[in-house]
Amino acid sequence: MKITHDMHTHTTYSHGKNTIAEMVEQARKIGLAAITISDHGRSHPMFGVRKKNFAKMRAEIDALNQKYDDIDIYLSVESNITGAEGNIDIKEEEKQYCDWISAGYHYGYIPASIKDIFVFAIPNYAARVLPFLRKTVVEMNTRTYIKMMEHNDIKLITHPGDKMPINIEPVAKAAAEHGVILEINPRHHHLNADEIKVAMKYPVSFAINSDAHNIHALGDMRNTPETIKAAGIPISRIINIAE
Ligand SMILES: [Zn+2]
Ligand SMILES: [Zn+2]
Repeated sequence: MKITHDMHTHTTYSHGKNTIAEMVEQARKIGLAAITISDHGRSHPMFGVRKKNFAKMRAEIDALNQKYDDIDIYLSVESNITGAEGNIDIKEEEKQYCDWISAGYHYGYIPASIKDIFVFAIPNYAARVLPFLRKTVVEMNTRTYIKMMEHNDIKLITHPGDKMPINIEPVAKAAAEHGVILEINPRHHHLNADEIKVAMKYPVSFAINSDAHNIHALGDMRNTPETIKAAGIPISRIINIAE
């Protein structure tokens, strides 16, 4: 079993260790049919993609697509979920350079508004150590994911529910309705096998992506073959895997 299109990879444009060209070279070496470069959205003060770099990344990728006919290379952004209303940190002028957009929750981002610091960011941190907050936070986060899919044209949710607990069932139902792919990520704890089992009751697609931050991790599925086996999900439901 192997990844055919690694849809989630990072480069030196955020905090990855290798350049776009090096990642593409490695992708060709390990026989990927396609690779998507998806560095972090700009609300990460340390490593979000700078606005001025979108055009540069697009030009690099266009040139590599011209150069190679054995691989397809796409530009995306792993945008950050930054507010309870399902806000993500990508602007129209950045979007125009991208082939498609993914979104995920991370620590260390700048919240969408002052209000979101108090109603969204802090409760998500606090719920990790204060179990009584968990139910309220899960309900809020579930609504946030659904609103995000309603208000934004995103193709993939990276590591759904990781760092930001959710109720997977309504999220999977909404993802199926909006045609959003749910990621199975080898570097994160969610989705886990139990969550996949619940999500697969709905006609939603899944993808396994390496989330590589260097060439060595590219295409690396780690323990995800065991996870999907434990979930009992047919390979045909995972859009970027070959037997
Ligand atoms: Zn991520
Ligand atoms: Zn990532």
